[in-house]
Amino acid sequence: MGTNIVFIGLGNMGLPMAQNLVRAGHAVTGFDLVQASVRQFAAGGGLVSDDQAAAIGQADIVITMLPASRHVLGAYLGDGGILAQARPGTLLIDCSTISTEAARQVGRAAQEQGMPMLDAPVSGGTAGATNGTLTFMVGGEEAALAAARPYLDVMGKAIFHAGGSGCGQTVKICNNMLLGILMIGTSEAIRLGVANGLDPKVVSDVMAKSSGRNWTLDVYNPCPGVAENVPASRGYTGGFGVDLMLKDLGLAVESALASGASVPLGALSRNLYSLHSKAGSGALDFSSIYQLLGDKA
Ligand code: NAD
Repeated sequence: MGTNIVFIGLGNMGLPMAQNLVRAGHAVTGFDLVQASVRQFAAGGGLVSDDQAAAIGQADIVITMLPASRHVLGAYLGDGGILAQARPGTLLIDCSTISTEAARQVGRAAQEQGMPMLDAPVSGGTAGATNGTLTFMVGGEEAALAAARPYLDVMGKAIFHAGGSGCGQTVKICNNMLLGILMIGTSEAIRLGVANGLDPKVVSDVMAKSSGRNWTLDVYNPCPGVAENVPASRGYTGGFGVDLMLKDLGLAVESALASGASVPLGALSRNLYSLHSKAGSGALDFSSIYQLLGDKA
């Protein structure tokens, strides 16, 4: 009999992550506000229940994969939330990307209730979630990570202990700020080549073998038609949304203000993503920032 796991948040990332735990033989009960997602989870062998409080009360592990800080704060600290329902000793793992401060607030409250808690945000996108190849960036106690590792191993291939509570979120925010900057820079460079009459595939191929090489050129080219199986080549659908990138860049700027760090390119990137979102592109994949730069920008 596998471990009794409750998984809350069966969205683009949470559903495939929870499905991988089911395939590994665990008893996973899934919850989401969107009933279609819950039905999809059940169709793949996941357990469902009408009584979230009771399921949490019987769980050995509770995992959350929710959009943003306010959802995580509500799910853990709200009336009848996870901390009110779970038994002492239940291992809590939040995989959402949220602020370091919110992660620490929930982590402290969990500790006071005798529940070990990890912040364990991920990198690797929906493909990584589906293939079980995510990177986990973990904050919290070593012993809690040791207990969580067999389950994280099912969902990911690289697990890093970044430090104490909240440190997983900090390193995740650093990574995503860099990713946002790189996506804009790559888009600008391809646009510059195209504006001067070059084939975007030629520009991309040359840069991918030169000093401008980066992850967006290798596996996530923002120009439609250059790479196969990327959001840019399917109308910028099904990837990492503009509004989620905007959220992460906002977290980076907030974190810089709180710590006194200087993030001039991070702040500029946040503003460009904000304009892009306001122009109606919030639900598109974040590589669609390529469109904001126009043909002859
Ligand atoms: P999503 O919006 O697809 O999924 C979030 C789900 O949470 C939704 O299905 C929503 O209905 C559900 N939800 C919200 N509040 C709830 C509640 N109180 N109870 C139950 N369900 C609730 O988002 P996603 O793309 O899966 O991302 C989840 C998190 O992972 C975000 O923090 C995001 O920044 C991060 N992330 C996403 C990606 C990606 O490529 N999509 C990559 C890395 C990290």
